[in-house]
Amino acid sequence: MRCVFCGGPLRSGTVTFSYDDEEAYVLVEHVPADVCAHCGEKVYSPAVADMLMEIAQKKTEPVKMLHIPVYDFTQAKRA
Ligand SMILES: [Zn+2]
Repeated sequence: MRCVFCGGPLRSGTVTFSYDDEEAYVLVEHVPADVCAHCGEKVYSPAVADMLMEIAQKKTEPVKMLHIPVYDFTQAKRA
């Protein structure tokens, strides 16, 4: 299979899927996907995409919580 965006070769592997849930940033680790070796585009199989939707909607207990530091580029000061 080839990447639909750039035509690069796809390699199967696992990725971390992320999405913005308005009040929370959510990560799903170890998601099987085909990743474009050229542009990094991730392609999920229909079954995996369905599962991701289910995880997003069910809001089950996460395996862990991370504290993520957030910076604002416009307020960054040079050292
Ligand atoms: Zn690509």
